[in-house]
Amino acid sequence: AQLDAEDRALIERRLRALGPAYRLFYEEPIHVVRGEGCWLYDNKGRKYLDAYNNVASVGHCNPKVVAAITRQLGILNTHTRYLHEDIVNYAERLLATMPPQLGHMMFACTGSEANDLALRIARSFTRRQGVIITSLAYHGLTEAVAEISPSLGDYVQRGKRVRTIPAPNALFVPMEEQGAKLAADLKTAIEDMRKDGIEPAALIVDTIFSSDGLYPDPAGFLKPAVDLIHAEGGLFIADEVQAGFARTGEKFWGFQRHDVIPDMVTMGKPMGNGFPISGVAIRPDLVAEFGVRARYFNTFGGNPVAIAAATAVLDVIQEEGLQENAEKTGNFLKEGLKALTAGRQDIADVRGSGLFLAVECVVDRQTNAPNAALATSLVNNLRRNGVLISATGPGANILKIRPQLIMRQAEAERFLEAMEKALATAHLS
Ligand code: PMP
Repeated sequence: AQLDAEDRALIERRLRALGPAYRLFYEEPIHVVRGEGCWLYDNKGRKYLDAYNNVASVGHCNPKVVAAITRQLGILNTHTRYLHEDIVNYAERLLATMPPQLGHMMFACTGSEANDLALRIARSFTRRQGVIITSLAYHGLTEAVAEISPSLGDYVQRGKRVRTIPAPNALFVPMEEQGAKLAADLKTAIEDMRKDGIEPAALIVDTIFSSDGLYPDPAGFLKPAVDLIHAEGGLFIADEVQAGFARTGEKFWGFQRHDVIPDMVTMGKPMGNGFPISGVAIRPDLVAEFGVRARYFNTFGGNPVAIAAATAVLDVIQEEGLQENAEKTGNFLKEGLKALTAGRQDIADVRGSGLFLAVECVVDRQTNAPNAALATSLVNNLRRNGVLISATGPGANILKIRPQLIMRQAEAERFLEAMEKALATAHLS
């Protein structure tokens, strides 16, 4: 899979035109030209099993979603200041998947905007400024949410109104202590904040801790922390940009696995299968005053084409039983990965929920020290064998496997075959 002259030239032109802030995946980047279902095709006609892209979650170029977008583009595309039935129908359908306390839906275009809006509402409702996040969280790219996205690195300054707490940890914290530990860390963060005269407005977490290293278990561990932030007068914002829309298999939303009721739920990525749409589900009393004094208008957010895309995505998930499929195929993959890695000294854990899985690469089982070299080797080996994943976590040592929700057993078997080969030839440190 060596790069040819044409692709090397494109990499150079890309760097010149787009500048240094952009990153490419893989040692040998892929020049993709087409996608269909679980598969991506490159400019040489080679195909790749996409086990990473959670945006196209009902499949690349899903025909029902493409048809819905195309049809609506030819009928009407305006902003949301006219009466239109589809946005109301969709909001009602989405709210029906939520706890009854969440009574309104507000629409935007990206996950960042949804979190930015949720943050602004939380601060204006509580009349407080403090926000608590996990230490490697990612919540988005605007100035406000970059401040609560430590995974962007030290470059982004965090003011005194933001405190981080350690994410759960599957290797160093016993399972039964995850919930109590998270709540105890939250308590310390709140006390620390108060020393600076800052009161907590909200705890915001990605409910499956994607950028922290993927921590789904044990289901329910979020509850003590959510109870605590409520007792302290703050709000709980569930960031479902990654965990939402049936990804975890067991439940439609990640927070539902933890049996908690958020005050706001933010969502994006797979919501329109690639067409930009995001949203915030919210307790009506939180926006009663904001709605009058601040109002809300988003030029493109929730326009009829975006709503057509999102409606088609929901139709496909429900009609094709994709939540059940995520659970079934996800369990098959997880068991397969456990079998392939059992007894290895350099793999410490296989975990996940539904079609969102992690494999933690370590130097050895005595230290459980991160092994980024092994993770990098596996990711690039898989890519050379036509399977796409990536790595995450503080030590860049945790394989992140996040296939489309339409992945069935045949593709899962293909994935495991490639993984078996990659493990057999992987760099062992
Ligand atoms: N929250 C989470 C948990 C995310 O993973 C992301 C994107 N990686 C965002 C928010 C931001 O979404 P967007 O890129 O659509 O702005």
